[in-house]
Amino acid sequence: MFADNDPRLSQLLEGIVRLASGDLSSRIEVSPARDELDAIIMGTNLLAEDLQIIYEELEQRVQVRTQLLHEAHLEMQKMAMQDPLTGLANRSALIESLRAALDAEHPPGEVPVILLMDLDAFKSINDSMGHTAGDQVLITVGERIRGAVRASDVVARLGGDEFAIVLPSATPDQAAIVGHRILAALDSPIELPGRSVRCGASIGLSAGSAGQAPEDMLMEADVAMYASKAEGQNRLHRFEPALLLMRRLRRQLVDDLRTAIKNDGLTLHYQPVVELATGRVEGVEALVRWNHPTRGFVMPDEFIPLAEEAGLISELGLWVLRTAVHQLRSWIDASLVDTMFSVRINISATDLQSLQFIEDVRTVLKETGVRPEQVVLELTEVAIVKGNELDRYSLGGLRGLGVGIEIDDFGTGYSSISYLRRLPVDRVKVDRSLISGLGSDPSQPELVAAVLQLVRACGLEAVWEGVETAEQAEILRGLGCLSAQGYYFGRPVPPEQIPVLLADRPESANP
Ligand code: C2E
Ligand code: CA
Ligand code: CA
Repeated sequence: MFADNDPRLSQLLEGIVRLASGDLSSRIEVSPARDELDAIIMGTNLLAEDLQIIYEELEQRVQVRTQLLHEAHLEMQKMAMQDPLTGLANRSALIESLRAALDAEHPPGEVPVILLMDLDAFKSINDSMGHTAGDQVLITVGERIRGAVRASDVVARLGGDEFAIVLPSATPDQAAIVGHRILAALDSPIELPGRSVRCGASIGLSAGSAGQAPEDMLMEADVAMYASKAEGQNRLHRFEPALLLMRRLRRQLVDDLRTAIKNDGLTLHYQPVVELATGRVEGVEALVRWNHPTRGFVMPDEFIPLAEEAGLISELGLWVLRTAVHQLRSWIDASLVDTMFSVRINISATDLQSLQFIEDVRTVLKETGVRPEQVVLELTEVAIVKGNELDRYSLGGLRGLGVGIEIDDFGTGYSSISYLRRLPVDRVKVDRSLISGLGSDPSQPELVAAVLQLVRACGLEAVWEGVETAEQAEILRGLGCLSAQGYYFGRPVPPEQIPVLLADRPESANP
């Protein structure tokens, strides 16, 4: 045993206190005695050694973990700032860089500029060629934008087919040049497996001012982009305050239109379609008009595109369909027309894409008991050619109901003859631009004859629209054309005038 006053006891105690206080490197001295107390001291030192190793290992592991965490954090930050598909910046990153640019000092005349860009034909590419092709288009567009701007410019994809570019410091003119360079870069076709596509874009430009919020600049660029879109493809528009007013007016107009569709603010006018040989009115085309409370009659070319954009076209289409077929029913009931008389109804590409529309046609036919052959649906060539498989399916569905189907504005689109042959249609309505020179341009009759031959070779018949003079009507008749429509035969009129119009015509369709 060791003595109570052995100095090693207090050394041991001090040593343990040092270790306990965290100094794991401290050791207690072993005496030459090598007695029991020394054994305890050596044991304590061994424990300390172990503890120190464990502690150091732990320390190292913590370090590795911290590093990993740090990297993960950076990655997450990058992900939160990056568009996963294109690797471009995303909306948050764009807003951040815009904010930084707005806070920074700039050389005189230069400001932060944002270009907001939307692809013009992306939806139809995506719909008709599938998402993989769509993704490829977006990636390529991203690369081309990157190639057209400086490394210091921030290129972002904001979602869908919307891209944005922040030029941290530029004059608005310089930025517009960059914008046009991007449009030019998108002009060459994008190669996809088995096919190449062209995808134009519309750009809105907003030049920032000190103290402006990034979100505000984005809104301005959006308004400007909208103006570009309205002007057609491949445009760039700069923001101006007047555009804000236009946007407000447009929103008001959309609200008014919504109300008009619900509350019978629309009316249909009817224009005669005439059998050229006899002058008999074989049918009418229903043309929608909007009787606006303060603007008076608004013509369809003004509000149909608005209805399309605002998502109101299906409602409008259903209203036209029901009104026109019910109108036909009441003319039949009044013995004004016979069972050969037809009503032509314009339908939009959106209607064509909706299977609900087929159901609506079926319901209206059942409701009214009108023979399906007396209803002819007019579809533009562009709507059909642009369409996908589903469209052809709905076209077949409509055809199955027995209604007539006619291609409207024929000659303005790009359908091939083989395509025409495959479509379930009966007739084409030749666009009025094809006969506008008839009577003045001596070569025009040859063109008309050629078109007629082409149409008939496809097993179809043609209706000629836009006939404005007796001479035009005479030439068409001479060429063997069967039916025509135009101001010469009668302008579109409200339904009340149809009885008079039918009575005035020779051999009109009275039963
Ligand atoms: P569209 O189907 O090609 O209709 C013919 C347009 O030409 C009508 O204009 C008609 O008034 C006009 N027109 C008729 N004869 C002549 C003529 O001899 N000379 C000239 N210069 N023009 C003539 P409107 O009524 O303004 O309709 C314009 C377009 O709006 C229509 O073109 C059609 O695409 C669309 N539309 C009209 N009603 C409807 C509808 O109910 N639904 C849909 N989706 N579109 C409609
Ligand atoms: Ca038409
Ligand atoms: Ca037409």
